[in-house]
Amino acid sequence: MNILKLIQNGSKSLKIKNIQSHVLDSELIASFVLNCSREDIIANNQKNVNFEKISFFNKLIKRRQKYEPISYIINRREFWSKDFEIDKGTLIPRPETEMMVEGIIQFFKKKRISFLDVGTGSACIIVSILSENINSFGVGIDISNKAIKVAGKNILKFNLQNRSKLFNRSYENFYGYKFDLVVSNPPYIKSMDIKNLSKDIRNYEPKLALDGGKDGLDVIKKVIYKSRSTLKKNGVLAIEIGNGQHKKVSRLLKLFGYKIKLNIKDYRNNVRSILSVLK
Ligand code: GLN
Repeated sequence: MNILKLIQNGSKSLKIKNIQSHVLDSELIASFVLNCSREDIIANNQKNVNFEKISFFNKLIKRRQKYEPISYIINRREFWSKDFEIDKGTLIPRPETEMMVEGIIQFFKKKRISFLDVGTGSACIIVSILSENINSFGVGIDISNKAIKVAGKNILKFNLQNRSKLFNRSYENFYGYKFDLVVSNPPYIKSMDIKNLSKDIRNYEPKLALDGGKDGLDVIKKVIYKSRSTLKKNGVLAIEIGNGQHKKVSRLLKLFGYKIKLNIKDYRNNVRSILSVLK
């Protein structure tokens, strides 16, 4: 069987499960199995594939048929134009988070900063900021040991061991440093709403990274409060929030002494992250 046929078969198997991205996913799985770029496999689609590879491909297609996210199947995800290692222990990096990173990078304009990423997950935020602000230093903390392991792999992959540090620790138990920036993409989904998330998220992404308690604001509140002691004067708090949380979170920020500098909206025009300065 040649590559073209393999991809077509895979795509068909996904289409019958109503997976919108069936062609792309089949191509991504093929390029993972054949260990070459998507462009390469498309350009060489007449080449034959051996039996072993076909059966590996089919196995991965079956996982996707059960709605496992493609990023967990191929263990990678692109973020800020970089290829991150990902597994079930971390949230899959999202475009909204990329938009927050963009806001941060524009705000600091290549300045040398020290920053803390609360709930670092795959370390996608740290790596992206460090790749733009080249003299900066980033610290990542996460309560999930599995996440810290993935974060560590990405730090190594992008050769940032000298400009970063990771701790498997909660924010409550983190002391002793002051930063120019605290950034966080905390869990912010209401516990009650978790069951309404799409299957691929609900059944596969870590609850710990999603569940923000009764009103979705449990962790957001902690981050706002605790950052008063981890930020330098005039330090910046950049926080990602859920849809519809903008008003409440703005109120909390003001209440705790922050001045709002920038609201970052997603493609649907909802405010999805806030940059504020601690006065
Ligand atoms: N910081 C990581 C990300 O933005 C993980 C966030 C989380 O687990 N809530 O993807």
